[in-house]
Amino acid sequence: MAKREKKQFAVIGLGRFGGSICRELYSMGHEVLAIDKNADKVNEFTATATHTVVAEATDEKALTSLGIRNFDYVIVCIGEDIQASILATLLLKEMDIKNVWVKAQNHYHHKVLDKIGADRIIHPEYEMGMRIAQSLSSEKVVDFIELSDEYSIMELLATEKVAGKTLIELDVRAKYGVTILAIKRGEEINVSPVPDEMIKNRDLLIVIGHKNDLKRFEDEGL
Ligand code: ATP
Ligand code: ATP
Ligand code: CA
Repeated sequence: MAKREKKQFAVIGLGRFGGSICRELYSMGHEVLAIDKNADKVNEFTATATHTVVAEATDEKALTSLGIRNFDYVIVCIGEDIQASILATLLLKEMDIKNVWVKAQNHYHHKVLDKIGADRIIHPEYEMGMRIAQSLSSEKVVDFIELSDEYSIMELLATEKVAGKTLIELDVRAKYGVTILAIKRGEEINVSPVPDEMIKNRDLLIVIGHKNDLKRFEDEGL
């Protein structure tokens, strides 16, 4: 089989979640195969996917004939029909697809997906809820990524308190145990900033650390 240089994605289930993944990947220039059992859904995506196809995700023959085993990433975005989501995931893992990412509906669904080898399990409502709660609880928290139970990356808004100070002066690593990965200023992003970089009011600081330390930095440092 010929080796491809480019990444290929297949999205199964074009609801709100799968649909937005499909559109976003396509707009970033990736090759995306959009699959749904509903022909009307599929038709909505003809302009925002590389290929579209009406297929039943639990039909092994249909999946095989799509050549889905050649895809680097398959994202299963079937919500209501948990049984179909599980069966499709099982078939895809049996086909040895390296990266099968699946949307989970609940804890039970998650457990089964985990057992059958889903490579990443996503809970959009839960994860988005956490992010929204984080940004509601503080005006300073712009975005939030949970890395584990203990560690996160946060996008924090720099305040007057730190404006005009350099990273050396702030000394956040020693004081709070957190690391500033990048500084966003308008459209510009400065990745791995130098120690004498000066922070301005309203800069966005992308900070990694233990949740407790991040909280302390947010409360006391900013
Ligand atoms: P949303 O992302 O909008 O919240 P949802 O998680 O509630 O969606 P559904 O609306 O149940 O999920 O399904 C998402 C899409 O997946 C629908 O467009 C549906 O037609 C498609 N779908 C469901 N089951 C299958 C299947 N077995 N094979 C292919 N597509 C399917
Ligand atoms: P999820 O976030 O799990 O995807 P959903 O968006 O599908 O949820 P629902 O499950 O329909 O939304 O509703 C969410 C919650 O809001 C439920 O607990 C429901 O009881 C509550 N709810 C729905 N309508 C009302 C209402 N008119 N007044 C108060 N609570 C309501
Ligand atoms: Ca839903």
